Amino acid sequence: MAMNIKRPNGTEDVLPKDVHKWHTVEKIARETAISFGFSEIRIPTFENTDLFLRSVGETTDVVQKEMYTVMAKETKFTLRPEGTAGTIRAMLQNGLLNEALPQRVFYILSCFRHERPQAGRLREFHQFGLEMAGSASPAADAEVISLAKTILDRLGLRNIELHINSIGCPVCRAKYHDALRSYFDARKDELCDTCRERLVKNPMRILDCKSPICREIGKDAPVILDYLCEECSDHFDKLKKYLTKLGIDYSVDPKIVRGLDYYTKTVFEFVTTEIGAQGTVCGGGRYDGLIEQLGGQHTPALGFGMGIERLLLVMDKQGCDYLPVKKCDIYFATMGDAALEKAMELSDQLREYGFYAEFDLMGRGLKAQMKYANKIGALFSAVIGDNELDSGKIKIKNMAEGKDIEIALDKDFTNNFESLYFTTVMNGLEDEKILQSGNVIKENDNNG
Ligand code: ATP
Ligand code: MG
Repeated sequence: MAMNIKRPNGTEDVLPKDVHKWHTVEKIARETAISFGFSEIRIPTFENTDLFLRSVGETTDVVQKEMYTVMAKETKFTLRPEGTAGTIRAMLQNGLLNEALPQRVFYILSCFRHERPQAGRLREFHQFGLEMAGSASPAADAEVISLAKTILDRLGLRNIELHINSIGCPVCRAKYHDALRSYFDARKDELCDTCRERLVKNPMRILDCKSPICREIGKDAPVILDYLCEECSDHFDKLKKYLTKLGIDYSVDPKIVRGLDYYTKTVFEFVTTEIGAQGTVCGGGRYDGLIEQLGGQHTPALGFGMGIERLLLVMDKQGCDYLPVKKCDIYFATMGDAALEKAMELSDQLREYGFYAEFDLMGRGLKAQMKYANKIGALFSAVIGDNELDSGKIKIKNMAEGKDIEIALDKDFTNNFESLYFTTVMNGLEDEKILQSGNVIKENDNNG
């Protein structure tokens, strides 16, 4: 019996009927990032495991529970759980940080985390992300947040809140860790096993634990904002000032610590309540220590990652617009082999001009071919048979209106089709314009 193999849990197929949604997000994100001076980078899907241990952090959920690691010929490799570590590794390895700063790169890639699959939480998911290296200025933080916000706005998303926090630098963090340790020590026995270990190694991680008990205990924990040193506190104040200047609404959430260890100073999340519990569509922040930690010179840097599946969940929910799906421009219905060969030749010429042309590949009868042309929503169709071949003329039928226009099968065929095409499309637009100005006139009438 043939085996019916299904896709692994927590993975998704993107079907042809939905791929335009992905193109929409990718196009808008790409163009926006480029307009802020970012260039695209592409990095490997797997890296040496040590890269993630050293950057993401040994006490994080990602490293402790979620990495896909394989042992291959005595070397441990891990499927990337996020994009920052690999991107910084690539920048260092290729000397990008010796070039003009800030270095700005973005990426669109898949990430792998062994999590419990649910809506908005997958084992293979996709991120649009970016990193900016070289600037310590809070203006860079404002720039990166503004870029993320611009993408969300251009996608037409609404009701997405920006939450920001500062988690300080190693200087302020030391005092804060002491305060957290004495707070959680009192209720040590109630914490989950992982967090009891974190209490010793990295108490701030407890605040990011997903266990309800640890969350409850963490509610009254001291907040980092009360422990910021002067430099971090100034940095945070300037960022808030810039965001206000840019007209970007935000709220300060002193509980955000983020799930990756490399963050310093600014952390932020864009959050919606419209897609259930997994409502963080974008998370990011500053990581001034990471580049040094990975063997580079001390270089302040920052970035974010946006979950594309989560963005699409919200876009679907809110009925946002997607890029239009390209429909068939012309379908040739053929009768006989000579007609089929003509259809091949004409399609070839039209495709050269960028048109989407199709003809029958199924050996269907004429009626069934026309039914098919309707089904795929072809803008025009043309029948080719012996009559057309003899007369050297074909009738191009506008499928929506049923009207047709005759075009000669000569060297001007493609040009003539192109004029017909654009006249038709323009007429469509003209109709829309009339409709719009009609509305305006009505509105004026009501007002006056
Ligand atoms: P969460 O708190 O939801 O687990 P995170 O802090 O682990 O998120 P990051 O590592 O900052 O997330 O990743 C950036 C973005 O990638 C998230 O804001 C989210 O949109 C998306 N993301 C993270 N994990 C997943 C996942 N398992 N499935 C789908 N999207 C994800
Ligand atoms: Mg997570």
